Amino acid sequence: MDIKLTKAQIKEAAQQAFDYASTVTGGENAHYIPYLANIDSNLFGLSVMLPDGTAFNFGDTTYKFGIESVSKVPTAILAMIQDSPQGVLEKIGADATGLPFNSIFAILLENHSPSTPLVNAGAISACSMINPKGNSEAKWKAIVDNITDLCGSAPVLIDELYRSESETNFNNRAIAWLLKNYERIYDDPSMSLDLYTRQCSLGITCEQLSVMAATIASHGVNPLTGKRVFDQAISPKITTLIATVGFYQSTGNWLYTSGIPAKSGVGGGVLGVLPGVFGIAAFAPPLDEAGNSVKAQAAVKKFMNILGLGLMNGDFVTIAD
Ligand code: GLN
Repeated sequence: MDIKLTKAQIKEAAQQAFDYASTVTGGENAHYIPYLANIDSNLFGLSVMLPDGTAFNFGDTTYKFGIESVSKVPTAILAMIQDSPQGVLEKIGADATGLPFNSIFAILLENHSPSTPLVNAGAISACSMINPKGNSEAKWKAIVDNITDLCGSAPVLIDELYRSESETNFNNRAIAWLLKNYERIYDDPSMSLDLYTRQCSLGITCEQLSVMAATIASHGVNPLTGKRVFDQAISPKITTLIATVGFYQSTGNWLYTSGIPAKSGVGGGVLGVLPGVFGIAAFAPPLDEAGNSVKAQAAVKKFMNILGLGLMNGDFVTIAD
């Protein structure tokens, strides 16, 4: 079916979704990272960006929050740029784990494989893949530059969050060394873990995440800067990873009910991609049991349902002025 939408309809749907989700309560801030436990639970933002750069922003969309696991998306893209989508498939994998994001059991179950760059194990492995190998500062620059290209503006390290995570990331330390044992770490394990921890501690805004989402939806061209950030062949690969495991053990339920591939972080951020149509981001700190923002999910799902859109619907969607 052909679906023709106007920008006014998109804006109205986003406003309605924002208003609705503002009334949704429940969930709790991430408690296992001290910095995140203390963030104002009432913050809430929703941003939509179209492939032509048109932006719709509601609420706290300029507040810098911890990007956390949403950072797994840009670094997976960077590993695909520097190596290849096939290299990421062989070195890390492209399968859902059906288990929590920090699962060690998943590594053992999957024959010593990190499964996907979008869980902790695979993300640490992806950090180890980044070039130039052995040079922490140059690797860090590559990671941050890539996020800057995807967002059209730079993220900023939240020092307090970085310290908070570094002092409490015992489970991730175990993952890094277990992966080293299974030859799934392609650089120094401690450096790879530190880069992962640092990238999770980057401060990002809802607006910036919506630009990143729109860049993926626009097959690698940033709608704000016009820069081609990655080859268009990478776009379906990263969106597939997001669709299969973006919400960890509740990913199937999410895609079934919302129709949009999306990736969450325990900082409360959610990034959603409807290929060729738009990028969307939402942010609110309280999380459900799987570590996904309750309000952000409510907002994105409502937006999709109001517009009657869905990745699997098979519709051809166009947006007019
Ligand atoms: N830095 C967090 C961790 O490693 C990220 C988890 C998440 O956002 N799901 O536990």
